[in-house]
Amino acid sequence: MSDLKRSWLDSANAPDTDFPLNNLPYGVFSVDDGDLRCGVAIGDRIVDATGLEAAGHLRADPEADVLDAPYWNDFMELGPTTWYAYRQVLSMMLAEGSDEHVQDIVTTFSVPMAKARLHMPFRVAEYTDFYAGRHHATNVGTMFRGPENALPPNWLHMPIGYNGRASSVVVSGTPVKRPWGQLKSPDHDVPIFAPSRRFDIELEMGAIVGVPSDGPLSVDQAFANIFGYVLLNDWSARDIQAWEYQPLGPFQAKATATTISPWIVPASALAPFRCATPEREKPLLPHLADTAPMNHDIDLSITLNGETIAQTNANELYYSAAQQLAHHATSGCPMRAGDLLGSGTISGPEKHQRGSLLELSWGGKETIDTASGPRTFIEDGDTLALHGVARGNGYRLGFGPCTGTVEPAAKDPFTS
Ligand code: MN
Repeated sequence: MSDLKRSWLDSANAPDTDFPLNNLPYGVFSVDDGDLRCGVAIGDRIVDATGLEAAGHLRADPEADVLDAPYWNDFMELGPTTWYAYRQVLSMMLAEGSDEHVQDIVTTFSVPMAKARLHMPFRVAEYTDFYAGRHHATNVGTMFRGPENALPPNWLHMPIGYNGRASSVVVSGTPVKRPWGQLKSPDHDVPIFAPSRRFDIELEMGAIVGVPSDGPLSVDQAFANIFGYVLLNDWSARDIQAWEYQPLGPFQAKATATTISPWIVPASALAPFRCATPEREKPLLPHLADTAPMNHDIDLSITLNGETIAQTNANELYYSAAQQLAHHATSGCPMRAGDLLGSGTISGPEKHQRGSLLELSWGGKETIDTASGPRTFIEDGDTLALHGVARGNGYRLGFGPCTGTVEPAAKDPFTS
């Protein structure tokens, strides 16, 4: 017996669609040169949520328009009860057997996905990136500090993170220019200023905070405050990073761009895919301890110019997004609707499960053979894409691709 929720829209029932009725992810789209509008993906179409609201057919808030601006932040702030109710009503409108009059309205207020351009689905309030993948942290630590000191002593007790730049977050499809920066090879006494030679990706999940908070959060409360999830590529210049990261962590190495997938998959759509975090090597302090399965079983992969170079799963994360958010708020740090939390690179235990070129090439020492030629790090013109799919019984949920093509570095910005 399939768990696919059937729609009257045939394309939403196709076995290979990423957007069955079970998903209903949130995005922002435009057609031709028209306005940016909030939309919900279903099969091969996008429902114009802004249009349905303006015409009074489907309103999240009876008193105010919340989808008239081209981002979902105002909707997020209404909280989980509203998210649930909105999703229920939209789901009924799209379900097989719904009223013909309703089907006509939805058809009027929807466009073919193939005709639409996708934009940032939300305004990023602030961006924090964690380091919650154990195999990644172990691999990188081994390369940088040796196997004895691979995991820092704090790593098994809390999710390590750094404050990133909201301004650097871009939607899938946005080109990424190779950055310039300070590079210092171990063989030289002084650094040089040059384009990065070790430009890389990081395969991550992004969690989006929907409910603002002002003070510490329990893990359960943190989980409930998360609106949804995206795929996230934290572009990283490894040579800049290696020179700058001590003592305060990554800075310019990760400020060039962070790409996210265009559709926010609602936390509730991922409920059937919840799973436990990996076994604990050391018990967590009570305020971070697992209370329920809050990781997700999502197959993840990386393609380079269309060829798969790595495959892993979001269930490898040692700390769930809820634990990351709970830790983030321990100091009293206020959290806002639209805060984006990157998970950290997700690698599995096997070589082909590594979520960055740094790990796949073991620090540039091993060549990755691809149809586009041998690689250690990214070459100009390469298109890197992340893919994610949650596989249910008789259906699948996708995020849309998280893609970027790397353009050559600009001319030296400081000489004419
Ligand atoms: Mn990262």
